[in-house]
Amino acid sequence: MRILRVLAPNPGIRELEGTNTWIVGDGPSIAIDPGPDDAGHLREVAREAGHLAAILLTHDHPDHAPGAAALAAATGAPVYAARPPEGAKRLTDGQRIVVGDVVLSAIATPGHTPDHIAYFDERHRSLFTGDAVLGRGTSVIDPPEGDLTSYLRSLRRMRELSPSVIYPGHGPVVLDAPGKLEEYVQHRAAREEQVLAALASGVRTPEEIVPAIYGDHPADLHPLAARSVLAHLLKLENEGRAERRTTAGAVRWTLLEPRTCVRCGRPVKGRGLLCGPCSLAVLQESG
Ligand SMILES: [Zn+2]
Ligand SMILES: [Zn+2]
Repeated sequence: MRILRVLAPNPGIRELEGTNTWIVGDGPSIAIDPGPDDAGHLREVAREAGHLAAILLTHDHPDHAPGAAALAAATGAPVYAARPPEGAKRLTDGQRIVVGDVVLSAIATPGHTPDHIAYFDERHRSLFTGDAVLGRGTSVIDPPEGDLTSYLRSLRRMRELSPSVIYPGHGPVVLDAPGKLEEYVQHRAAREEQVLAALASGVRTPEEIVPAIYGDHPADLHPLAARSVLAHLLKLENEGRAERRTTAGAVRWTLLEPRTCVRCGRPVKGRGLLCGPCSLAVLQESG
């Protein structure tokens, strides 16, 4: 089955060489992520696609989605997305798009954005990952739209699909999909350890944590790295392992000592004395 990349002319820190627009299938074909609304790029996508029968979006970021309307107008192909732009069709998790002999399943993979969808060709075990997995470097998790807890869940879900090849939204094709997904999971676990160690050493804000753990990265990447550190802090807060305090408008983060429920000994989230089930039980007993 034909899988062809047309590279959009939008290189950048987040976009690497530019957005990969993937064309899948040789009879009627599917285009995944038309990219920015760039006339030259879209002309090339339409020419390479031949009979374009569907346009799929992984998510609605400006480097992936805005070209969809012009490409749809030029080709008549319908647009599908989880958070559809005007005139597009809404995709839900597990839905299949069948075009000629191409069958792609929509895999909800929130984390980079809440609406992120990956597309899986089960027969060839090809996974189109948008910004959830890149060919090089790591995916940007920028809160509040980016959510690390759901992102880690999505990584595990993609791993469970057992893909063989990853076609990312940016960067080169990944020929060892399981290895890349494992690398991504390990990378986030290692970063979390570093964030915990930085908090333990008395560092209190993302901007202070970044030089401590991204010292080897060029300084122009540090603002992006601070967003990633914030994503880790929010995950730790959500798990009751870190907390933030705002004094005079400045947010400072500290570690929370792990606590156990005074009633049953199970771990407790945050500062409470009782775990969730015990609080409920005590409420019912007293009610
Ligand atoms: Zn994106
Ligand atoms: Zn992107």
